[in-house]
Amino acid sequence: MREGMNDQVMLVNNGKDFNHENLRQLFDLGEHDLPALLSYANQIRKKQVGNEVHLRAIIEFSNYCSCHCLYCGLRAENRKISRYRLTNQEIFQSVQTAVNYGLKTIVLQSGEDQFYRPDDIARLIEFIKKHFDVAVTLSLGEHFRQSYRIWRNAGADRYLLKHETADPILYQKLRPGKNLQDRIDCLMNLKDLGYQVGSGNMVGLPGQTLTSLIEDVLLMKKLNIEMAGIGPFLPHPDTPLGCYSAGSLSQTLKILAITRIVLPTIHLPATTAISTINDNGRRLALESGANVIMPNFTPLYVRNQYVIYPQKIDIIEDPEKSMKNLKKLLKEMNRTISMSYGHAIKIKKYSYYKKEAYHGFGSQ
Ligand code: SF4
Repeated sequence: MREGMNDQVMLVNNGKDFNHENLRQLFDLGEHDLPALLSYANQIRKKQVGNEVHLRAIIEFSNYCSCHCLYCGLRAENRKISRYRLTNQEIFQSVQTAVNYGLKTIVLQSGEDQFYRPDDIARLIEFIKKHFDVAVTLSLGEHFRQSYRIWRNAGADRYLLKHETADPILYQKLRPGKNLQDRIDCLMNLKDLGYQVGSGNMVGLPGQTLTSLIEDVLLMKKLNIEMAGIGPFLPHPDTPLGCYSAGSLSQTLKILAITRIVLPTIHLPATTAISTINDNGRRLALESGANVIMPNFTPLYVRNQYVIYPQKIDIIEDPEKSMKNLKKLLKEMNRTISMSYGHAIKIKKYSYYKKEAYHGFGSQ
């Protein structure tokens, strides 16, 4: 590591002094220092969570969504996509395929689809838990605490709910009708109910500032989340943000690395969005602190309709090809595929977490 950067990284990494100012010094590191920062995050990853890579099978079972997020191709206003809901049989078939490849976590993902009653989802979880030896992660958006409770009681282990941006004003602009505090309340409810919780943010959103990116990391630290999905903003042509530029690879990798440094035992996916922006993105992310990959097991005949952003890299890859490429990459990198459920490493009693209002910037 280059001299000069060392002190700052060590200061941040001692776990006692996370604040906006010293994180800003890491964020301010230029291109010249980036390789050293990424390499340092990679060392921390190795020391804290080892060489194993956890595979999570994602099944996008419904692309209906009642929300209006300006960046998302699934937004309710987008009439250019065909909407679908997989039948339970199709979902179970996808789970079976993932299990046949040895995956131990199923991620059930959808838009905020009002069609399903909480009990419908609970029955789905119960069936999967009864018939397959897997952990279940949900990624279904914002719901009442009672629904989260029902799903947790049905056996769900984890929940992904990216906060997207920690800037409350930008958040409201990008997600009309929603506000950041409600999102954070959902994350707190999920933690309180005993889920392992994932959040995360986009990098390079129109109107996003460096200050808000720093706050993204601080918010995840404050919430003490177990997973963080961090990916570049990718403009979808059929959305109001379609004419903006994408987030950058280097900035995304930098934030991924800083998140690993600040939250050393967290699970960090090499997101599909990073692979989409750069052919080598998955490898680079795995070398910058990431330890999770989420192969897509959504049936191929609907996959091209689940387009949050365009040119998703996994749209045409069948499981066979996808798993073959993935194994080849991990072998080249001397990384192994985890055979465990991949639960959070730092599962603690949830008493460390205090429910309190988030007041935006400067609230640390
Ligand atoms: S980001 Fe999520 S909640 Fe927003 S429109 Fe897309 S699927 Fe719906």
